[in-house]
Amino acid sequence: MHHKCQPCSIRAQFVKFCSTVFLCGVVSIVSAKSSNPSSQNSLMMAVAWKQTAAEYRALYYQAYNIARMQVERALSTRTPGDKTLAVVMDMDDTILNTVNYWGYLINNNQAFFDDSIWDRWIPENKVVPTPGSVDFLAFCKDNDVEVFYVTSRNQGAKTFEYAMDHLKINGFPYADENHLTVLTDTSNKQKRQDEIGNDYEIVLFMGDNLNDFKRVYYVTDIDERTKLMEQDKDLFGRKFILLPNPTDGHWIRAVFGESEPPPTNTNREILRKAATRSSWEQ
Ligand SMILES: [Mg+2]
Repeated sequence: MHHKCQPCSIRAQFVKFCSTVFLCGVVSIVSAKSSNPSSQNSLMMAVAWKQTAAEYRALYYQAYNIARMQVERALSTRTPGDKTLAVVMDMDDTILNTVNYWGYLINNNQAFFDDSIWDRWIPENKVVPTPGSVDFLAFCKDNDVEVFYVTSRNQGAKTFEYAMDHLKINGFPYADENHLTVLTDTSNKQKRQDEIGNDYEIVLFMGDNLNDFKRVYYVTDIDERTKLMEQDKDLFGRKFILLPNPTDGHWIRAVFGESEPPPTNTNREILRKAATRSSWEQ
């Protein structure tokens, strides 16, 4: 049996002290490293905002209140023989809250949109209605304003079925084949929007991406995209009603050159450049 003699014990305590000092040093080096913005999860702040900010939810109520005012105005100026009124809705991040997907990405250390996870997540029916969306669309239905859903999604053969389930499960009106269009091979909604416009008087479009309003905004240059939007500035809040989305959309494409950039160091650097486009120099 080995008895701990006094000198041994002192030596052991010294070794313990040294290893503690060493470990503290390592920990502080690691923390210093992780406080470097480029090594943090680029989605964290945007997803935390979507998950917690009352302001995020209020922006939806604000958008749907404005939408309702526009529909009421259109209803009040109807004359016999006019085309039936319609609204054209995007789905994800417009009528459907997808924050459960983004939480999963954070928990799994994904710092960029991940298409394969998205495709596995969609059939799980974890989407919930965005604030105000169900009430606004029920108001449309009560007033014979038809609701058209136009979405770009691709989860294979069941894409349409999954999207239809999302409408039905969440209690949205006009959940039928005439009113739901799912584009599986393009994000270009213009053709379908034009078809609806031929048969109906479209009161307004709602979306979280400029592309939900007009395809003309689908350009990769950041400044050109902004300029195109500004040419239509009078339409926002009237014909085009925009919802907030800091995690995905074609603004990402304008920054990275693609809508779903892979999580490479090059893309992390591109993101840093975007975030420092304007920066105080001293
Ligand atoms: Mg969307």
